[in-house]
Amino acid sequence: MSDFWICFGFMGLMFVPAILMFLICGCTWGNKIGGAIGCLVFWLAISGAMYGETEYDISTYNNGVCIVCEGEYKFSGATKYRTSHHYYYTCENCDHTIELNSLMK
Ligand SMILES: [Zn+2]
Repeated sequence: MSDFWICFGFMGLMFVPAILMFLICGCTWGNKIGGAIGCLVFWLAISGAMYGETEYDISTYNNGVCIVCEGEYKFSGATKYRTSHHYYYTCENCDHTIELNSLMK
C-alpha cells in the first residue's frame, strides 16, 4: 500500500461521515450529490497535499545526509504556528539547515 492511500484512508475517518451527512440530510438530490462530490474532491485534494508534503520531506532529508558536504543532519529545533509544525535539521559539518513538515527518525 502506498503512502497516498494511507493518507486517503486516514482522512476518510473525517470525510466518510461528512459524505453520509450530505446524502442523508440534503433536502434535494442536487444537494445530496453536489455535497457528496464536493466532499470527495476536497478529500482527494487534502490527501494529495499531505502525500506531497511527505514526499518533499523525504527528498529534502535525503536519508539524513547533507546535500552540501555529505555530513550528517542533526535535529536542531522546531517551530509551531497555529496548526502547522516545522522541524529543523542542521548539518554537523557545515551548518546547512533544512526545514521539514514532519519529524524524521
Ligand atoms: Zn553539510
